[in-house]
Amino acid sequence: MVKGLYIHIPFCSQKCPYCDFYSLVESPVSQEEYSEAVLKEAELFTDLEIKPETLYFGGGTPSKLRPQELFKLLEGLGRVFDLSRLSEATVECNPEDYGYEEFKKLRDIGFTRVSIGVQSFTEKGLSLLGRRHTPKKAVEAVLSAKASGLTVNVDLIYGYPGQEPGDLEKELSFIEKLDPDHVSAYLLTPYEGTPLGSKILRGELKSPDEEKVRELHDLLWRGLKDLGYRRYEISNWAKEGKECRHNLLYWTMEEFIGLGVSAWGFINSERYGNVRNIKAYMEKVLSGKRPVGVRVRLSEEDRFEEWLMLRLRLRIGIPEKLVPEHLREFFEPAPEGLAIKEEFMILANEITADLMVYNSIGRR
Ligand code: SF4
Repeated sequence: MVKGLYIHIPFCSQKCPYCDFYSLVESPVSQEEYSEAVLKEAELFTDLEIKPETLYFGGGTPSKLRPQELFKLLEGLGRVFDLSRLSEATVECNPEDYGYEEFKKLRDIGFTRVSIGVQSFTEKGLSLLGRRHTPKKAVEAVLSAKASGLTVNVDLIYGYPGQEPGDLEKELSFIEKLDPDHVSAYLLTPYEGTPLGSKILRGELKSPDEEKVRELHDLLWRGLKDLGYRRYEISNWAKEGKECRHNLLYWTMEEFIGLGVSAWGFINSERYGNVRNIKAYMEKVLSGKRPVGVRVRLSEEDRFEEWLMLRLRLRIGIPEKLVPEHLREFFEPAPEGLAIKEEFMILANEITADLMVYNSIGRR
């Protein structure tokens, strides 16, 4: 059964130099036209049993829409789907977009959680990452969101060129003072084709070397642990009971629907990706067709590999028999077997690749 609903809002005020999401600064389609199209797309799913427990507005920048516009979308979705089981509704927002009034309104109209794209609380981090907001604005946004009664996530990026352990310590001291419910901290990925990624890949900017990244990672997980956060996924930490239920659906391979340009969904063992072009998206939806650009049907082997990869990013663990002797030093006991030790989570990709080879041979 489909348990999650994701809605992609592609509009952004600027293109951040590290970002490879589908987002538009100048859009040929207005926000109103786009919202209507998203609701039309939703109607194309009425043949399925859909009772979402979680809803997530991601982007792009959903906070480019005023709370009232998000409410119209929410209301519209409520006319198409049975939202009676909804227990978590998240909006991603940028610190410069919303203040206390907007957060309060979001809460009043039924949202439960905001994910704030802080990325850094320092001038140095914000300028390197090319973000528009100031550290002060980031602090204000977190405090206002907390005061409104919403559950608050702070998104951070670490491992950017020039970041020193002292810089990360500053981020942690902001987390300590602001005490959000949830922290997502992502290691910067230099994507080819993005201005920052290209500079790093061409060697014009130098990312921290392996040893420095390990040092930053150690500082991060130990620091957040000391502040009372429990890591439940490789890049996600939460206070007791504040885990993001929507993202957990992805990581446990539950079914979800993605609506909007470039959105992904997973139904009946098939991953689908909507087209990454807003005009093509509008044309398809307005002519009553699903705007799907890619479909990937998962074989049993694919499902196992995905499950293994996702499980190794979580702290739940995998059955002991899947972990060969030569990798045991990287693992520790976990509720459902063995999980990668926290200090080695930074090596999760390498460990996963090794485990996949071992297990795919074992399964033949
Ligand atoms: S990082 Fe966020 S705000 Fe920046 S361009 Fe990407 S989606 Fe837009």
